[in-house]
Amino acid sequence: MVLREMLKPSQRYFQNMNDFPKTAVNKIKRLPKRGHYDRATIYSILDAGFLCHVGFVVEGQPFVIPTAYGRDGDAIYLHGSSKSRTLTEMGAGIPVCLTVTHLDGLVLARSAFHHSMNYRSAVVFGKAHEVSGEEKERALFLISENILKGRWNEVREPNEKEMRATSVLRLDIETASAKIRTGPPGDDDEDYALPIWAGVVPITLVQGEPIADPQLAESIAISESVKGVVSKSRDKSLFAF
Ligand SMILES: Cc1cc2nc3c(=O)[nH]c(=O)nc-3n(C[C@H](O)[C@H](O)[C@H](O)COP(=O)(O)OP(=O)(O)OC[C@H]3O[C@@H](n4cnc5c(N)ncnc54)[C@H](O)[C@@H]3O)c2cc1C
Repeated sequence: MVLREMLKPSQRYFQNMNDFPKTAVNKIKRLPKRGHYDRATIYSILDAGFLCHVGFVVEGQPFVIPTAYGRDGDAIYLHGSSKSRTLTEMGAGIPVCLTVTHLDGLVLARSAFHHSMNYRSAVVFGKAHEVSGEEKERALFLISENILKGRWNEVREPNEKEMRATSVLRLDIETASAKIRTGPPGDDDEDYALPIWAGVVPITLVQGEPIADPQLAESIAISESVKGVVSKSRDKSLFAF
């Protein structure tokens, strides 16, 4: 498939930006004021990451497996070895629960009880199916772009053998929720007078300086996608201090 086509934003993304209805599955019972059901919030959390955890049950045994992903509209793509147990089981269309979590800070209260964390997390429910052909190629591109934008264009594309060794699943999002905590600790009124430091320790995921492969020819300059990482990590470290 030509890359121009792959880069076109999905039509599905623009068609359906309404809230997910609250159901017995996705309705947040514990601290519901932190809950969100709108696609804009949930998808911004998904799009801010590229690592998720997928949960599924096989013969009564739950598994929760970390893996990379890419999103396109109301679908999340997952990829891996054709021999992967996770992909084979999930590809049979069993119920799947996928989570993405961003840890934004340690919330240190005056009491042990009120310690908490600032976070943005999304929980997604749906069923997955294996995809092939152009959708499989586009999905691999999306996953790659989600991890490091621009890298796909710089590298050798997968050959037929590599494509055969790779399975791609599309998880159709049936429902979802997000939960977000921000701000300082919430101590009990009488504890605010205690002489104990309280506040938030911000936590940010920072990309380090790239380390060239020892086998890299000296003549090869750092590629554009990696330059992007360098500038981003500098921005983030400036921000952190
Ligand atoms: C970084 C981090 C650390 C946390 N640490 C703790 C901890 O130490 N102890 C603790 O009890 N809880 C912790 N939580 C909150 C935890 O994720 C649950 O929200 C909480 O435990 C309530 O669980 P429950 O089963 O009663 O949820 P319920 O409110 O009964 O869940 C019902 C539905 O709400 C939605 N939902 C629940 N939690 C989340 C979520 N986090 N994000 C998006 N949707 C959600 C799901 O769709 C779920 O099916 C943490 C969350 C994060 C992100």
